[in-house]
Amino acid sequence: MEKIVILTGAGISAESGLGTFRDEGGLWAQHRIEDVATPEGFARNPALVHGFYNARRGQAAKAQPNAAHQALARLQKNWPGEVILVTQNVDGLHEAGGAEPVIHMHGTLAGALCGACGHRWASPPEMEVGEPCPACQQPTARPDVVWFGEMPYFMDEIYDHLIEATLFASIGTSGQVYPAAGFVQEARAVGAKTVELNLEPSAGGSIFDEVHLGPASEVVPRWVDTLLAGNGAR
Ligand SMILES: [Zn+2]
Repeated sequence: MEKIVILTGAGISAESGLGTFRDEGGLWAQHRIEDVATPEGFARNPALVHGFYNARRGQAAKAQPNAAHQALARLQKNWPGEVILVTQNVDGLHEAGGAEPVIHMHGTLAGALCGACGHRWASPPEMEVGEPCPACQQPTARPDVVWFGEMPYFMDEIYDHLIEATLFASIGTSGQVYPAAGFVQEARAVGAKTVELNLEPSAGGSIFDEVHLGPASEVVPRWVDTLLAGNGAR
């Protein structure tokens, strides 16, 4: 049975209005990465970090999934084999578009994490400094997102899926940069076909078998339709 593993990045949510740290303008432009997206930044100024993530959580709550999110949900529902959806995005737009399950390798704005005991729970819309952990009562609640310098989540699980993949696709993230670069190498090593869907070509050429360039909301539905048509699915 054909098993598809898909990695999505910021490019798929950009058309839903959610910017990234690489964009000019927007939330990220008002802050330095080391202040708002590192454990050291949080230790120095938790109020600033909570404020930043409260704003991002608010933005993400208002954002709508686009045609690319919806197409991947359709693929997951109608593909006769497994479709493993891995995202670097901390928004919930894949789920809002109907995808299930979604592996959030960089965590999610919807989650809170205890910095002391590792307990996880659903984040309130606004987190505050010193909020107690429901499990250990320490005032160490933080957003459940992976910061720069921290290990991404679920890496063993993702690599277990990759060694069974017959098709690997990277969407809206540079195929040349970790983790996508590592994922494509792993998939190639087991003989999977590799596909890149991105707005712009990767610098220095692509290591993928196939490349589709354009906005995610256009290239992803087209790619999904082709896959499903090839399998006789409706
Ligand atoms: Zn705790």
